[in-house]
Amino acid sequence: MINRIQPSDIPQAIITPTTTLSAGRGWARLVRGALPRGDHVEVSEISAVDGLLYIEIEGRYTSLTRLDIEWARAESGKICEICSEPGSLRTDAGWMRARCDEHANDDIEAIANVMGTPITNVTWLPISEAIPLRDYLAVREKARRAAIWSLSNAKRLGKLPDELSREETSAAAVLARIRQFDKDFPVGPASSWTVEKVKARVTPSSERHIRLEDIPEPWATRFLTASIGSTICAAGHPLDDWENFLSLWEKENDFD
Ligand SMILES: [Zn+2]
Repeated sequence: MINRIQPSDIPQAIITPTTTLSAGRGWARLVRGALPRGDHVEVSEISAVDGLLYIEIEGRYTSLTRLDIEWARAESGKICEICSEPGSLRTDAGWMRARCDEHANDDIEAIANVMGTPITNVTWLPISEAIPLRDYLAVREKARRAAIWSLSNAKRLGKLPDELSREETSAAAVLARIRQFDKDFPVGPASSWTVEKVKARVTPSSERHIRLEDIPEPWATRFLTASIGSTICAAGHPLDDWENFLSLWEKENDFD
């Protein structure tokens, strides 16, 4: 049995009788950092899902809270769930867990009992392969799109940073945070590609269409999130939409 996170580890959280607290105590610091500061939030679940930290809170999430929670989830793959020392995701027989070398085999018997099979071969898994890539990217890109949308009016009016409304200020902060995420935690084989490189490397399926499966991540998710509401047919997305998306990308993502 591993030592679980206790209510006293997360003073800003409201814990109710229905709250699930099953994640290991090694992640307590990560959980504290992910929950909104100075605000008491009701927590419904803190557990390990696919080897990574999973946090669910009640009520409305701001997009910054959602990003903080996603960030903690990604970081948890590098931190031992038991002792908080540097670790890595390990996998065996479909089970994944974040452990340091010393604790790699802790609770292995418990897992073997549940599985009904002996566990023989604990291996390492690079984090980018372990995180359900599309889920994670979708959260990041949705937050980015919402922030870009909130800022579009301010941009059109050419507002300076100190002229922004409260909502616009927080959208600018979200956008800056996402750019930092892009740098610190790149996801997808084309994460470092510039717009020019994407233009040069991605080939349309016809003169008028482009297929999502021909676009490497994170660009496919970025494009998909930006083009919600556009018409998609069997041949793919309209090429005009793709070109428009790429030509706007840098302008949209810059707000300093
Ligand atoms: Zn450990």
